[in-house]
Amino acid sequence: MARARKYRLLQWGLTGFVLLIGIISIRTLSFTSRQIQVDIPDLPEPIAGAAERLAAAIRYPTISLLPIDTQAFLAFDTFLAGHFPLTDSLLRRTTIAGLSTILEWPGKQSTLSPVLLMAHKDVVPPDSASLEHWTHPPFAGKLDDTTIWGRGAIDDKGSLMAILESVELLLEEGYQPNRTVFFAFGHDEETGGSAGAAAMARWFADKNIRFEYVLDEGMLLVEDGGGGLEQPLAVIGIAEKGMLTLNLEVNTEGGHSSRPPAMTAVGILASAINKLQENPFPARLDGATRLMLDYIGPESPLPNKVALANLWLSKGIIIHQLENNPGTNAMIRTTIAPTIFRAGVKSNVLPARAQASINFRILPGDTPESVGERVEQVIDDPRIQISVEGAEDHTPPSPVSSTETLGFRVLEKTIREIFPDAVVAPGLVIAGTDSKHYQELAKGTYRFMPLRLKNEELTQFHGNDERISREDYTAMIRFYRQLVLNSCK
Ligand SMILES: [Zn+2]
Repeated sequence: MARARKYRLLQWGLTGFVLLIGIISIRTLSFTSRQIQVDIPDLPEPIAGAAERLAAAIRYPTISLLPIDTQAFLAFDTFLAGHFPLTDSLLRRTTIAGLSTILEWPGKQSTLSPVLLMAHKDVVPPDSASLEHWTHPPFAGKLDDTTIWGRGAIDDKGSLMAILESVELLLEEGYQPNRTVFFAFGHDEETGGSAGAAAMARWFADKNIRFEYVLDEGMLLVEDGGGGLEQPLAVIGIAEKGMLTLNLEVNTEGGHSSRPPAMTAVGILASAINKLQENPFPARLDGATRLMLDYIGPESPLPNKVALANLWLSKGIIIHQLENNPGTNAMIRTTIAPTIFRAGVKSNVLPARAQASINFRILPGDTPESVGERVEQVIDDPRIQISVEGAEDHTPPSPVSSTETLGFRVLEKTIREIFPDAVVAPGLVIAGTDSKHYQELAKGTYRFMPLRLKNEELTQFHGNDERISREDYTAMIRFYRQLVLNSCK
């Protein structure tokens, strides 16, 4: 009897195991590639002197920190008009807020909705403490046999200049687009875009202009993309995280440090911050990030493919892997970054007040309000006052744009034409871009820069030795030219 029961149990176990293997296999086999096949088009050389022009553009120190050096921006505008004569004479220019620029390239068919390509003129200042780590001074605009060096080479004068080079090239070819193409070049992206991008978005809204799609910076093509991929990974940002900064404050009686209470204001605040960091927001594998895994999975080596095809089973392991890297951790949860701590005046005086700023990057699905509520719950300490910092730092996450739009399809196609070895996937931008100001105006908002970098080179954004190779810059120009052509087919 006992033996029969044991046998039956074994039989059940075996059947379950075979069933499990069956489900895993079927899901893996039906996890087919989402990469589109394209023919490689003819790709002309950029107009002679393109690299020299980018180097020259870098020499204008268009830093957007207040007070803004308007002379640098105005001189940069004059430089652009002088070096792209066809663009300057054939496109309609509107100046917004004194320093931002909208260009309109009228299309042949007024019934087609326009597209908008964005870039920003401003750059972040180089960190004065690390100037010695620059191979060439940040605003020297140095050009050698292979590389264009300087602040803005990739963020974002590279894109801005490549867009203009592509337009000038198309105009030289006698091309006129079917649909109107707009260009919006902001002057204060690095400080939130409230004067530039926000005002340009209002200009379009007032004219009732709605876009087929909007393209801004945000993601790029990473050579060692991760997920075990051997091919480079090009991610098109279909959503971006929101932002909220909360200020925490503790007020206590001061006094002499020779007879301290059990906890000083510094201690109370530190323990609150500690509670927050020990209680991270829950991880979620949904939205843009989930979609990214659905695109990467079929292109991955077999073990990763099996895992990604069977998230119902492997979700825990995948989340654990993503948590191990700050970049991918930020794709699956609202993050907590204590950035400022202010307290105390003298080492032998008890601090009467301690203040801290905590910067949160909000995952789509959470809201600034839900983040605030959770922070209060976790800290749960009446001695801590919590307040929201200025409206500038208070942005809800963006909606998630569809991958079924003309905009996404055109981007996907253009990336594969210019970078045929790349795997293309949608994904989440963990930082903020100017495109947040345009969300209401477009069927789809996408964030992608046609630039190929290695993972370790990503530190150049806002970091030292920002640069772009001549070869990569040529690919950028070709990308934007091809994008305009594909958008008008
Ligand atoms: Zn930028």
